[in-house]
Amino acid sequence: MDYYSHQINRLVEELMSLPGIGSKSAQRLAFHILNMPKENAKKLSNAIIEARNNVQYCQECFTLTDNERCPICKNEKRDHRTIMVVENSRDLAAYEKTGKYEGVYHVLHGAISPMLGIGPGDIRLKELLQRLQKDADEVIIATNSSLEGETTAMYISKLIKPTGIKVTRIASGVPVGGDLEYIDEVTLLRALEGRREL
Ligand code: ZN
Repeated sequence: MDYYSHQINRLVEELMSLPGIGSKSAQRLAFHILNMPKENAKKLSNAIIEARNNVQYCQECFTLTDNERCPICKNEKRDHRTIMVVENSRDLAAYEKTGKYEGVYHVLHGAISPMLGIGPGDIRLKELLQRLQKDADEVIIATNSSLEGETTAMYISKLIKPTGIKVTRIASGVPVGGDLEYIDEVTLLRALEGRREL
């Protein structure tokens, strides 16, 4: 991209480092930003910096939040004895959108993948087990139905079963390899209601 000046190239390269953004999209976004009123460009960059500086993991469920505990964990009306295990904060948001789940969550931030060299120690599993030492009635495993998601579900169920806590897996109404965040709310609810004990 020698035909752009240094600063434009730099902006394009930074944008290209984002997932799903190739060279063409990065150039389109860069020129969009350069045509923005300066004030709007400042708002955008401030939003990135402030979110990055202030967002942290919830001390209880490990979702991303800007407080020590997220609004769901803080909510006394939620059923804190039912814990749904999801791969990431976007999956949590997908279940929250249904408005029907009353328990709390545990966010793993990934899934076990021997192929990618991601082991149990690389996701928030230890933290889940620590949480379960307090009272829990049921752990609902809602990892994706990909190979990694299934591997993770089996691994978790083997760890938890000896504790006597009920372990369930959401039904496979969710298509194989499907990312939870793209699935509509009705399908998600059906998968939750049709969960089976492992
Ligand atoms: Zn939380």
